[in-house]
Amino acid sequence: MTIFSLVLTSIFAFFSGQLQAWDTTAEKDYTVVVIGGGLMGSAAAWQLARDGKEVILLEKQDREYSQGSSKGLTRIARSNNLGRDLWSYLHNRSVHETATLVNYLGNQGYDASMSAVYQTTPVNYMRPLKAADAIIASSERQKVDYKLALTPEEGMEMFGVQLPEGVFLHREFNEHSGTLNPEALISLLHKAIKLKGGTIVYNASVSDIQRQGNHYLIATKDSQGSERTLTASQIVSAAGPYTGPLLSELAPYMDKLITPKRVFLAFLQISPAKYHQLDDHARSQLRRAYPVINSSAGTREGSFYSMFESSDANGNPVIKIGGHFQRSDINNLDDVWHQALSEEEMRWSIENTGRYLRMHGVPVNDEDLQLVGDVSCVYSLTSTEVPIVSQLVAPSGEMDSNFVVMAGMSGVGAKGAMTYGRIAANLLQGKSESDPGYLEAVEAVGFTRLKEDVDQLVSLEK
Ligand SMILES: Cc1cc2nc3c(=O)[nH]c(=O)nc-3n(C[C@H](O)[C@H](O)[C@H](O)COP(=O)(O)OP(=O)(O)OC[C@H]3O[C@@H](n4cnc5c(N)ncnc54)[C@H](O)[C@@H]3O)c2cc1C
Repeated sequence: MTIFSLVLTSIFAFFSGQLQAWDTTAEKDYTVVVIGGGLMGSAAAWQLARDGKEVILLEKQDREYSQGSSKGLTRIARSNNLGRDLWSYLHNRSVHETATLVNYLGNQGYDASMSAVYQTTPVNYMRPLKAADAIIASSERQKVDYKLALTPEEGMEMFGVQLPEGVFLHREFNEHSGTLNPEALISLLHKAIKLKGGTIVYNASVSDIQRQGNHYLIATKDSQGSERTLTASQIVSAAGPYTGPLLSELAPYMDKLITPKRVFLAFLQISPAKYHQLDDHARSQLRRAYPVINSSAGTREGSFYSMFESSDANGNPVIKIGGHFQRSDINNLDDVWHQALSEEEMRWSIENTGRYLRMHGVPVNDEDLQLVGDVSCVYSLTSTEVPIVSQLVAPSGEMDSNFVVMAGMSGVGAKGAMTYGRIAANLLQGKSESDPGYLEAVEAVGFTRLKEDVDQLVSLEK
């Protein structure tokens, strides 16, 4: 069926007071449809359900979440940010929102805990010395509990780390800083959405959205090709890297404002024989070394982030390493998830991990590091790497206050996901908050910014 005949059928059904099914299943008119069940869509759907909205969350994947920016068991969650206090607010508010979610589930008799989502550990930052003043100032402003080694002598004395000349090591110790588990958080959110009366449909890929007066018509397809339509008064689009194609008609500018990028992740383990030989000191140094954001090389190629993804039965960790500046262009968004790592990407991962571990006094050679897994992941990047959580800019240039888009989460979305969900729910309901951190966040990610981006695009294209 073409979208034209779909629209005609649906308009007819809408005006006759009863929306007909496209093929077999009875349809329903929902208040809010949320598209995409990754971290962002799930957080938004939870906040809306919590506010009493009738919500349906549509996720194109089956229950097993295997292709999305939120894939995996760990993301770095941290209070400190060198550049902007905004990121600190987004993380801290997310922690607060997660506590509310955990409390709610606990009160409903579910076994939910903060430790299922956040693993509190020191977070390591290594950077060139010229950034030291800024990190001290930002840590103070952002109320971060930290220790800082500025010289090789201090590095050895304070942390047992052989710092290169001109590099500092900053360790953050805030509660709930360390890593967060996207899979666990999504699972808790989905449980809570359903408890609040929301509906989640997996294997429902949105293939078209049309605006019809005050409503939207939403066409979905499952993997067997069965089609359905829904109507909704309001929409949240949180389709991650698929946002551009999804909104190609309603908001063609999105495809230009965000660019999906491939980012690779290598999973390494110290060989079992070598791990067995490590003494207690080396093992404790290994544990304290992660998670880390290491920009000490002062080059994009030499910068990496790394953390434990999991551990085996002997406590030997699986170390995940990737680099935000190692990202590359994508030919086919559906195929990229299966792309294997190149020889060069594997070598980069092993060399950086080996060098970093030896700096911490963990006596391993590069040959002791085994590749135990690899993933091609994707995130969608904005030009400033600041996400978009905003009402759509309609073709007239006005605000479409019934349609919120969450997109361009770049490599920074996870730690703020619960806050972005709150913002999306507020925007859709015309609500605001008085907290200066909240207002700064809305200014950075919201409509005024999106409108400026769109206007700039238009003027460039003239
Ligand atoms: C390798 C990597 C490392 C990262 N590291 C960090 C980090 O350390 N700290 C941090 O804070 N952040 C980090 N991030 C960023 C963070 O993980 C992402 O910003 C976040 O997960 C984005 O979530 P999302 O919901 O926007 O996207 P997704 O997780 O991609 O969710 C979008 C969902 O929409 C679904 N969908 C798409 N199209 C449709 C459709 N047509 N119909 C229905 N459903 C659809 C998809 O199946 C998917 O489930 C990292 C990201 C990557 C990729």
